Amino acid sequence: MGFVTRFAPSPTGPLHLGHAYSALLAHDTARAAGGRFLLRIEDTDTARCTSAFEAQVHDDLAWLGLTWETPVLRQSDNTKAYEAALTRLGEMGLLYPCSCTRGDIRRAASAPQEGAPLLCPDGLIYPGTCRHRPWEDRTNTDAVRLDMARAVDHLTDLPQYTETGRHPALRLTRAHLVEEVGDIVLARRDTKTAAYHLSVVVDDAAQAITHVIRGEDLATATPIHVLLQALLDLPIPTYHHHRLIRDEDGKRLAKRDDARAIALYRDEGATPQDIRMMVGL
Ligand code: GLU
Repeated sequence: MGFVTRFAPSPTGPLHLGHAYSALLAHDTARAAGGRFLLRIEDTDTARCTSAFEAQVHDDLAWLGLTWETPVLRQSDNTKAYEAALTRLGEMGLLYPCSCTRGDIRRAASAPQEGAPLLCPDGLIYPGTCRHRPWEDRTNTDAVRLDMARAVDHLTDLPQYTETGRHPALRLTRAHLVEEVGDIVLARRDTKTAAYHLSVVVDDAAQAITHVIRGEDLATATPIHVLLQALLDLPIPTYHHHRLIRDEDGKRLAKRDDARAIALYRDEGATPQDIRMMVGL
């Protein structure tokens, strides 16, 4: 089967040290395994992604000394594949259209069930307002949600996955998925594009990724991805969630922390080796 991994940034800002660590780790691991390293541009959020940031991704990674296969998959070029996956899940009876705004969800979610866990990996757990709506009623101003209880019940056994990072794999259980994750969005209402959970799963399969290497911040999304892989009959890769690079105050770096941008270190005369040292490689 070989070893195939990827680095999948969203070009919504400059790459920072955290991205450098993730990309270098995936790249080095692939090279050490005699495997393949791919780059994927996750630009479905058309409102926030720019071609300038995308160009900078290529430039920074090349400067770091990484090489990757071409052509590079850009998610904005692959929307048909996500729509096909949606249609398939819709025809299985597992999706419904949703017209709720964030405000609607906040109001409905904060109403009765005090003490219940309200937060899922995507924010508030969806209170189910539109769950009665048939999939066929979807209009182009609707989001699309997965009916989590139906999705779980569709499978005879819940799949599990292998984790090689420092924290053990999260177990997929009905209780966790239905009560603590809930009906996640698979296609967004605002941009009318596939949501991250769907596009990442479709593309990891399309690119035959055997090992997903990414930050610990995405570990709680992995049960969602593994569930979608099982529903869509896709292979389940091995996951490795790595430590996050933090600033001096222990805060995780985010793209808005432009002070940590690789481009800035480059301007100040740092070498790729300096960056490797800074992230502990
Ligand atoms: N595009 C995601 C990000 O930039 C990463 C997705 C992944 O590695 O699965 O955070």
